[in-house]
Amino acid sequence: MRPVSSSSSPDPTGGRGTRILRLCVLLLLVLVAGCGERDPRGEPVRLSGATMGTTWNVTYLEPPGAPAPEAVHAGIQAALDAVNATMSTYRADSEISRFNHEHPVGVPFPVSAGFGVVIEAALAVGAATGGAYDITVGPLVDLWGFGATGDIVTPPPADAVAAARARVGQDALAFERGDLSLTKSKPVALDVSSLAKGYAVDEVTAWLSGQGLADYLVEVGGEMRLAGRSPRGGPWRIAIEQPEPGRRGIAGAILVSDAAVATSGDYRNFFEAGGKRYSHTIDPRTGYPVAHDLVSVTVVHDNAMLADAWATAFSVLGAQRGRAVAEARSLAVYFIQSAPDGYVHSHTPGFARYMESPLKEGAR
Ligand code: ADP
Ligand code: MG
Repeated sequence: MRPVSSSSSPDPTGGRGTRILRLCVLLLLVLVAGCGERDPRGEPVRLSGATMGTTWNVTYLEPPGAPAPEAVHAGIQAALDAVNATMSTYRADSEISRFNHEHPVGVPFPVSAGFGVVIEAALAVGAATGGAYDITVGPLVDLWGFGATGDIVTPPPADAVAAARARVGQDALAFERGDLSLTKSKPVALDVSSLAKGYAVDEVTAWLSGQGLADYLVEVGGEMRLAGRSPRGGPWRIAIEQPEPGRRGIAGAILVSDAAVATSGDYRNFFEAGGKRYSHTIDPRTGYPVAHDLVSVTVVHDNAMLADAWATAFSVLGAQRGRAVAEARSLAVYFIQSAPDGYVHSHTPGFARYMESPLKEGAR
């Protein structure tokens, strides 16, 4: 192994960090590719660092003539820093913060090309979910203590929820792809946390490919993209974790290459008050955190940004409605629902091809 560790500290402006009750279970998906057959091109290089209030990890096989790992590390970090500088609501000088807090209603706001890609994708997923997924959810995310404005200890009163809800709705956004501008017709605020990590994965992937690398795993805050062969040879093997707080159980494994894998799970990020658990996924149609039996969603897609957005969208929709939307769009999605005596697993037809062996479908 040739680990090259990051010297950077976590971005002080990013992420929810310790403000939110987190369980010890760190990632819904954990890489379980073990040591095995050694790649003829040598040991994999493993790099890691911090971004967006979370961590990133990259593992790659080094082709002849590849840049030095230190240079690859710097290139990855630069790509991630650029995404954070554009889309972090924790930075007053970011593009998103300027749009949210400074830019007036009714005046086109020039967006950078990358931000435009994210906005366009998010608006499309929002439209496809009838408003369940909505990147103008920011005021509600803040109200429920999951945003840049900080933690809360008790649920907000109903009138505050109604007031925040009135400031939500992607119908108030007009994005012009031609001149890359975004106009708001009322004072809405963007929160692209639900797909920015996926977009960052795509950005890192593009940079690595540009360096001539073909076999790699990129992971940012749990969202991943796999390319080429794993160090064992063949596709990358990814475990799907049983969503049990405080315990690490494996529901099964999937084999993925040249695709992205994103997960959403409300057992990782929530706050508790009065014995009730409040998810960080908010339903903009009600103004309240989602409260249904869907505890984990895994999406495999050829685009990490869309995998990330859809995973969050299905978390809002719940298993039944989510499955209908996923199947209508031929998306590859795996659902885990909680049941009184365990968990119920199911997946769309498109997901089957990734399954190493039947996962615990229908198991309780
Ligand atoms: P998960 O992996 O659990 O889906 P993400 O980081 O992808 O987590 O997205 C969760 C974040 O998305 C929340 O912290 C919040 O900022 C934002 N969010 C919450 N509810 C919605 C929603 N209905 N539509 C879009 N974004 C949302
Ligand atoms: Mg997401």
